[in-house]
Amino acid sequence: MPEMPEVQGLVDFLRGRASGLTITRATVANIAALKTYDPPIQALEGSTITGASRHGKFIDLSTTGPHLVFHLAKAGWLRWTDALAPTIIRPGKTPIALRIAFDDGSGFDLTEAGTKKSLAFYVVRDPADVPGVERLGPDPLDEGFDRDAFAGLLAGRRTQIKGVLRDQMIIAGVGNAYSDEILHAAKMSPYALASSLDESDIDRLYAAMTETLTEAIAEASGKPPAELKDAKRRGMQVHGRRGEACPVCGDTVRSVFFADNSLEYCPTCQTGGKILADRRLSRLLK
Ligand SMILES: [Zn+2]
Repeated sequence: MPEMPEVQGLVDFLRGRASGLTITRATVANIAALKTYDPPIQALEGSTITGASRHGKFIDLSTTGPHLVFHLAKAGWLRWTDALAPTIIRPGKTPIALRIAFDDGSGFDLTEAGTKKSLAFYVVRDPADVPGVERLGPDPLDEGFDRDAFAGLLAGRRTQIKGVLRDQMIIAGVGNAYSDEILHAAKMSPYALASSLDESDIDRLYAAMTETLTEAIAEASGKPPAELKDAKRRGMQVHGRRGEACPVCGDTVRSVFFADNSLEYCPTCQTGGKILADRRLSRLLK
């Protein structure tokens, strides 16, 4: 799943490549992914791209007409082509959800792999009209978001820190992968309760969060969409690296499996050597 750094990479790419281009055609191949009906999708046709920005993990293309806002969800991606093929897209038989064609012959597809479809796009007058955008918490890299603002978000939350970091309504842009990386960098258990963190824990976690995200954004910035996923994978210390050696201490990276995902952590760095119970297995054994 693309998270803040990859989404920022896509936004930077689109701002540079698509600004000034006029949309000649917007073809919806997965109608279920289009979440709005007013303005209609055709309102994009004839509109010129004026900019691109990011709201959490949402990408917002502004035009001289409405905004096109999209969320790539778990298995979605943006595929850019300098010369868009004139092929006809057959709905239901393609991973393409939306195709945008520009007046210079270029364009992009929003694609989604797998059978569970959750990619979403919106044609709106104002990005705040998208419910997921309107509900977003603060962006951890915003100038005003300092260590004390972060402490304020954690205070009194008797929930596990892993869940807090991933909750878009609390902090925008961090998902499963970067929350694993941030917690590893902070040497903190994913199960630590947010409300139980002391001042030095919060210092460490805030520093780990801003450094991890800033470095990942620097890595993603300037890369074409096709290279962003590999760049993300390469940058990971523990996420997606179960069974490999922790680059910090050499211990074996472990996973905890849940119904539809998993987290990775290093026992030596994060839990005092304790192996966390596999949630999927323990549920089966009950
Ligand atoms: Zn380690």
